[in-house]
This record gives sequence, structure tokens and C-alpha cells, in this order.
Amino acid sequence: MEAWRIGTIEDGPDYGRCKKFWRDYRACVAVKCESCWLWAQCKGPCPWEIAQADGSFKFSDRHCEQMEKHIKKAVAFYTRLKAEERKVRMGSK
Ligand code: SF4
Repeated sequence: MEAWRIGTIEDGPDYGRCKKFWRDYRACVAVKCESCWLWAQCKGPCPWEIAQADGSFKFSDRHCEQMEKHIKKAVAFYTRLKAEERKVRMGSK
């Protein structure tokens, strides 16, 4: 975990390392996430999901597949819920 150290308890955060963390993360996810149709809901993977032991990031499609399934299920559920609500309002239930 030394590769991921961004400060110490005694001295506090090392802002240079913090900036590098976020720059590297953004560089890793930007190519895929900036053109993704799920961006509005997803906002990219958690940094720790794509963190590697050597201190680098490696994008994985696994998160994307899970997010796509989740969003599709949520849309299907919402659509069904709205249809049920409409029926109740019209007194057909
Ligand atoms: S689904 Fe994948 S590519 Fe799309 S925004 Fe989320 S992490 Fe990025």
C-alpha cells in the first residue's frame, strides 16, 4: 500500500500526491467515461475499484457491465411502477 500513501498522520496530506492521485484517476477513466451514455448516472468507477497494487489505475469493464444492468433494471422498475400508478389513478384497480 506504500504506492497509495498520500500523506502521514504526523504531517497530514501531501497535496502533491493527492493531486497526482486525482490526475491519474481522471486520465485513466476519461477516455471511456466522457463518451459513455451512462455517465449522468454512473460518474465513473470508485478509484479503489480500479486501483492496482503498484500505484497505478487500470480501467475494468466489469463496473460498466454492472452499472448498465443496474440502470436497465431501474428503468424497467420505474416504468412498471408508473404504469401501476396510472391504473390506480384511473380506478381500474
Ligand atoms: S459505465 Fe463505465 S464507462 Fe460509463 S461512466 Fe460508468 S465507469 Fe465510465
